[in-house]
This record gives sequence, structure tokens and C-alpha cells, in this order.
Amino acid sequence: MKLLVLSCCAPCSCGALKHLVEKGVDVTVLFYNPNIFPQQEYEKRLEEQKRLCKHVGVKFVDLPYDHAAWQQQVRGLENEPERGKRCSVCFYMRLKQAARYARQHHFDMFTSVLGVSRYKDIEQVNAQALCAWLEEGTPYWANSWRKDGLSELRQALIKELKLYTQSYCGCEYSRRNCEKMD
Ligand code: SF4
Repeated sequence: MKLLVLSCCAPCSCGALKHLVEKGVDVTVLFYNPNIFPQQEYEKRLEEQKRLCKHVGVKFVDLPYDHAAWQQQVRGLENEPERGKRCSVCFYMRLKQAARYARQHHFDMFTSVLGVSRYKDIEQVNAQALCAWLEEGTPYWANSWRKDGLSELRQALIKELKLYTQSYCGCEYSRRNCEKMD
């Protein structure tokens, strides 16, 4: 099976990628995260993702970083809480692009690790993925990538590879919330 995995970062994807490779799945990671702010943070997460892909032996592609386009999509939703409407728009934007890429490059399915973190609502991610699937026609594999020992595998790999783990989800609004919490 030729599978496209939309990834937000190395620490969220490491367990799933290792597992899929061991199962013999033909995996390509797509890094499309215009939500991440500032750009230095984006570059840091991008480089960690590339390092991880090389380590586990999966293909890697990224799409241009356009934070202004992302900001336009979430305009008016700046004060939404995490798991609120802004996050639905953010998930949809990235999943739609992944579904389109999967269709254009003849993948059998696509999936994502956007719901791996315990701070995320997997049902919210899956709902947006379903929209992207219906619009683009490439099936979405709605796996949580948290069960059957994958959370433990993920934690072990983060430690073993000393993966950079960020303290906020990605956008400036989640960073603001994080700074408030400190
Ligand atoms: S908190 Fe995370 S998922 Fe929500 S809008 Fe910001 S970057 Fe996207």
C-alpha cells in the first residue's frame, strides 16, 4: 500500500512511522504546516522531521510555508480556544492539501498524526479529514496512532533520538496561551 502521512512534527509522527515501516507499508511523509509561527520554529520542526524520516527510512516531501495564507483562513477566529473553530479550519486546510497531493500523486490512502497529542481531539481531526476525502476522492485512514503500544513506542523514540519537543501546538495563538500558562 502506498500511504501518504501528513505530519505536524517529528515527536508526533515517530511512533506511527516506525510501526508502518515495520509492517512493510510504502510510506511518504508530507510536511505541510503553514500554521507554525514564527518561521524559525517552522524550520526547526522541519529539520527534525527530515532527520526522523531519514532515520526510519521513509520518503519525505514538503510544501511551501505560507503563513500569511493560513492567517487569512483563520481570520476572525484568533480568540478561539484550542480545540475550537480555529483548529477545525487549521486541520481542514492542511488535510485538504494532503488529500489533493495524495490524489495527484496516486497514493492509495492518506492519514495524519494531527490527533496524536493528548491535547488534540481526534474526532475533530477525523471530521475535517472526512471532508477532504469526500472532496478529493482519496480515502483517509482514520487511525489514532495512539493505541496498541504506539504511545509507548513514541515516547521511547523521542527519548532515544532526543527529538525536539515543542511547548505549544504551532500557531501564534497557541503560543500566546502557552506563554500565559508559564
Ligand atoms: S492551536 Fe494548533 S491546531 Fe489550533 S489553530 Fe493553532 S496551530 Fe492549528
